[in-house]
Amino acid sequence: MSEEGSTGQTDAAAPRLYLRPLAQGVAAPLDPKQAHYLSVVLRLPPGAAVLAFNEADGEWVARLARARRTDWSLTPERKLAPPQRLPDLWYLFAPLKHDRLDYLAQKATEMGVCRLMPVLTERTHRQRLNIDRLRANAIEAAEQCGLVSLPEVVETAALGDVLSRWPPGRTLIFCDEDRAGGDPLRDLAAVRRGPLAVLVGPEGGFSPRERRQLRALPHVRPISLGPRILRADTAAVAALALVQAALGDWGTATPQVTD
Ligand code: SAM
Repeated sequence: MSEEGSTGQTDAAAPRLYLRPLAQGVAAPLDPKQAHYLSVVLRLPPGAAVLAFNEADGEWVARLARARRTDWSLTPERKLAPPQRLPDLWYLFAPLKHDRLDYLAQKATEMGVCRLMPVLTERTHRQRLNIDRLRANAIEAAEQCGLVSLPEVVETAALGDVLSRWPPGRTLIFCDEDRAGGDPLRDLAAVRRGPLAVLVGPEGGFSPRERRQLRALPHVRPISLGPRILRADTAAVAALALVQAALGDWGTATPQVTD
């Protein structure tokens, strides 16, 4: 996609923003941060082409317009792509400190998870979590990596409650530091394709009780992430990359489905 807009700017070079709702010919107002980014940081003039997308309306070429000095909007002109259906992969994680949590939400989104699920474990330090901030990080990553979708961000829940309500048919891949030294690919070879979830523990790891509880559940598959103990945010990226390559949309067997 590289057609020229009225300003001579190409679609491919256009900045990309998450915005909703989007409908052809209907001006969608920008929030002050988005307006500042386009008009001040990027110095785009009215009429410039911007790519706008969301998980419900897909991706559009839109035109920038200004009603008053600070009131900016985007009007979708041409649809480029329908919404994407993300791989059916949930990511369960124990909340970490702010900057590492930002990183974690961004990387999990880039890795293609469809749901971000903060869980409280016995050794979780952070009990309060800013869901809006998690979502803002997911949006930033989706804008950057070309997703025409957005993972759902759910409220924090205790690990025990999540496990007691676990849906039938979804395999939970449990990253178990006690299995360090094992072979992750061999562990994953025993996991069947289908709805999946990945669980990574907090800085302090899982307690023996949690580990026993997890290992006793029939839908839980413990895996190793290699010979070294990884930081929780590193473990997240490693685990999701392994799972996407072995069972998800990095392989050819389960291409990304579009609606
Ligand atoms: N218990 C450890 C400690 O405090 O030294 C470390 C926990 S580790 C920082 C955080 C989480 O990353 C673990 O609970 C586990 O889910 C995952 N993890 C890290 N390294 C791993 C490995 N080699 N194999 C499996 N999981 C790992």
